Amino acid sequence: MKDKSVALVLFSGGQDSTTCLAWALERFERVETVGFDYGQRHRVELECRQEVLSRIENIKSEWSDKLGDDHMLDLSVLGAISDTALTSDTEIKMLESGLPNTFVPGRNIVFLTMASALAYRRGLGTIVLGVCETDYSGYPDCRDDTMKSVQVALNLGMEARFNIVTPLMWLDKAETWELSKRIGGWELNELIIEHSHTCYKGNRTKRHVWGYGCGECPSCKMRRTGFIDSSLAKH
Ligand code: ZN
Repeated sequence: MKDKSVALVLFSGGQDSTTCLAWALERFERVETVGFDYGQRHRVELECRQEVLSRIENIKSEWSDKLGDDHMLDLSVLGAISDTALTSDTEIKMLESGLPNTFVPGRNIVFLTMASALAYRRGLGTIVLGVCETDYSGYPDCRDDTMKSVQVALNLGMEARFNIVTPLMWLDKAETWELSKRIGGWELNELIIEHSHTCYKGNRTKRHVWGYGCGECPSCKMRRTGFIDSSLAKH
């Protein structure tokens, strides 16, 4: 029997997964986290991840009691089979398919499969991840239909009853900033601005009002536009 009051959050250290981690800490009795090392070309993402994890429990006293184990899984095989701008030193550009070349084919399907195997072993009934098909790069493995299909396939294949929960699916980036503000106030948004990392180019030298990043890659553009459109820009 899987315990639905315990959640496993797919946590990369970016804005979206940090928001989802806070969201889960508000709702579940216990929250564990899982991260994946898949040969990201910028190790900074993994460093920021640790920084956010060590600080988020200070935002609300009850969060530190709820935050449980962190699991790091080696998925370097993903980097070995996909030559993309996220895993190799290639310039970021749009492909003929309409997707940016940062697309790692099937990445979220692999992540969810590994996460549910871990959740199965640990008796965790809910899996939370920060995918979104409102403001996104068009990756098909971020869409709601993909998530629902993966949930069905995993539950059939493992004879389980996992809930795959995607709190950001129908929010644009401004609404994601508003959501983190509602959950953890300015303190959570400050943590997101200072320590979460979303820039595809791994830039941690340029500090903007919305955080660190090159300011030009698709990920930075979404983060910036969302911030400017949100009430936080007036803070
Ligand atoms: Zn960037």
